[in-house]
Amino acid sequence: MTSSVKDDKHRSVKRVAVIGAGVSGLAAAYKLKSHGLDVTVFEAEGRAGGRLRTVSRDGLVWDEGANTMTENETEVKGLISALGLQEKQQYPLSQHKRYIVKNGTPLLVPANPAALLKSNLLSAQSKIHVIFEPFLWKRNGSSTVCDDDSEESVSRFFERHFGKEVVDYLIDPFVGGTSAADPESLSMRHSFPELWNLEKRFGSIISGALQSSLFGKRNKTGETKDASRKNKHQRGSFSFHGGMQTLTDTLCKEIGKDDLTLNAKVLTLAYSHDGSSSSENWSITCTSNKKTQDVDAVIMTAPLGNVKDIQITKKGTPFSLNFLPQVTYLPLSVLITTFKKENVKRPLEGFGVLVPSKEQQNGFRTLGTLFSSMMFPDRAPSDVHLYTTFIGGTRNRELAQASTDELKKIVTSDLRKLLGVEGEPTFVNHFYWRKGFPLYGHNYGSVLEAIDRMEKDLPGFFYAGNHRGGLSVGRAIASGCKAADLVISYLNNASDNSVS
Ligand code: FAD
Repeated sequence: MTSSVKDDKHRSVKRVAVIGAGVSGLAAAYKLKSHGLDVTVFEAEGRAGGRLRTVSRDGLVWDEGANTMTENETEVKGLISALGLQEKQQYPLSQHKRYIVKNGTPLLVPANPAALLKSNLLSAQSKIHVIFEPFLWKRNGSSTVCDDDSEESVSRFFERHFGKEVVDYLIDPFVGGTSAADPESLSMRHSFPELWNLEKRFGSIISGALQSSLFGKRNKTGETKDASRKNKHQRGSFSFHGGMQTLTDTLCKEIGKDDLTLNAKVLTLAYSHDGSSSSENWSITCTSNKKTQDVDAVIMTAPLGNVKDIQITKKGTPFSLNFLPQVTYLPLSVLITTFKKENVKRPLEGFGVLVPSKEQQNGFRTLGTLFSSMMFPDRAPSDVHLYTTFIGGTRNRELAQASTDELKKIVTSDLRKLLGVEGEPTFVNHFYWRKGFPLYGHNYGSVLEAIDRMEKDLPGFFYAGNHRGGLSVGRAIASGCKAADLVISYLNNASDNSVS
């Protein structure tokens, strides 16, 4: 017999368990709670936030996980406004100034076609290739763009459209900086589904993008000037005053301490259904409390690698997760350094600099560095520059695990070449992510199929988070909100069926 953690006075209110207090789980829990449901969040760690992790110390504020996000997804806009966080959104200064290293020198990434023509980032031949992409792009395979290109790599796709140099000096640093991956290992279909579909519709990416944006504009003619100005502003990246964790801290506050259980690694999940919809269908046990908690539905946001460790039973029989394919995770180290301003001879204003793999031949070993205090001057005392550097990923898995001392040397050496830093950093902090990002590799279709199968075979079980639909904070939030919507309609249907 099971005993419930909460008393029975709200028994008429449906109960939902959310597993994982990363941004996707918290967004889901907040939405469910706003809908009047009784929600409990289970988090394995002693803190909430998952890959959103801000530290404030010694007059510095830094992020060890995500540093910025965008609000391209409607769910993100909705969440920020529901939480009243617009006032706390912090937009980086000069955020459109971003740099990529070429031949050892940081070059500004061209922000428009005119800037591209003037830029030294690409050779004349590559510029012609980009401009004439509508005529020069090559189809995948011999004749037609067909479905068997579904596992094409990111590098092959972009090479067909824009040539090799674009892959080496734009795509490679971009994917290294946003997913710690390399373009050869990534599946185009799963990493850039919008561009993949654009090719399916239009062939050329450039003409497809132009036609879709014209079409989009025509559809938006009813929009007021103010709204469109605001949208333009909102398209950029942003953080929050106090760092990214302001978002998850606010969500935790809204959800409430009583409904968020920390140090509660979920160990078992049991689905049992006796045919009466008034009975609760899922029982959960976790490390923090040996009691079993009964709920009507579950949203799982733990990484798939962790889901495999949970014992699941369905109507008393073990539910094997053998069909879940192995997900590859990329390790990543984040090094925070400060340097006295007088010791940085060539400081760059802007967002940050990315290092293409090719630049390893010029002695670079980092993936890229964010100019954290250039973006957000209130995050460091006025006499120092604060930098956030990423090392590892597919490019260098071993280096991701190196000691703080070794990484400090590597980062100092790269920053010396890029920004002219002299001497040692005045402050160093190191955070290691053993499983920083899941790799959306060539087998990712089978991972998504396995997630669908779990949901299909386990009634009332929904999966959300950055293993599905995109790696960014925005995509994780959208995924959490979508799962919450599915739970709401699942529970509504269950109630309707019990009435009829
Ligand atoms: P997570 O944050 O991983 O949350 C899952 C939670 O589940 C964790 O808290 C975990 O402890 C918990 N859990 C696991 N197993 C169990 C269990 N058995 N029981 C209970 N709980 C469990 N994105 C951007 O948009 N912009 C960026 O600048 C950016 N930079 C990044 C930098 C780094 C170094 C990293 C690692 C990621 C970055 N990302 C960035 C990606 C982004 O942070 C993530 O995609 C997003 O935060 C994922 O949220 P999530 O809720 O899906 O997963």
